[in-house]
Amino acid sequence: MNIAVYPGTFDPFTNGHKDLVQRAATNIFDKIYICVAENTKKDAIFSMAERIDLAKKSLAGIKNIEVIGFSGLLVDFAKELDAKVILRGLRVVSDFEYEFQMSSMNKKLNENIESIFLTPSESYAFLSSTLVKEIAELGGDISRFVSPEVKEALKAKYK
Ligand code: ADP
Repeated sequence: MNIAVYPGTFDPFTNGHKDLVQRAATNIFDKIYICVAENTKKDAIFSMAERIDLAKKSLAGIKNIEVIGFSGLLVDFAKELDAKVILRGLRVVSDFEYEFQMSSMNKKLNENIESIFLTPSESYAFLSSTLVKEIAELGGDISRFVSPEVKEALKAKYK
């Protein structure tokens, strides 16, 4: 079985995340665990339980996937799940430096796990959770960028 973990903060889950998971689950991997990180340096506006719930709802209908929360070291968690691959998205050049550091360090921590990067579909290349939150806070329309459930949750947060 070709198993991957897709880790992230997912605060909140966007259509860009979904597009990546969908393509990877259809074309590349037998199973993908979407791993929602608990301990994050970023100040999340949604709790871990909320981020998991919204990811699950956004991914309804996609086969071969499972959404789970984790804390601690990703490489250890991946090993527990029998995953040999860490899946990440690479949008713009500015993502590269951080991702390069992370994948090099993960390789040092466990040399049996490879990082694989997918570029976004063109229409999601600019999309980030941070931007979506900013637009929602300013009352803009985010319907194209997130699931209806995430849209409602953001509306409630910024009410
Ligand atoms: P993190 O806080 O770990 O960066 P994010 O939740 O922001 O987690 O993103 C998780 C992963 O999804 C990252 O690899 C990120 O590059 C990728 N990603 C985020 N938005 C998009 C998008 N629009 N298209 C493709 N990949 C994306």
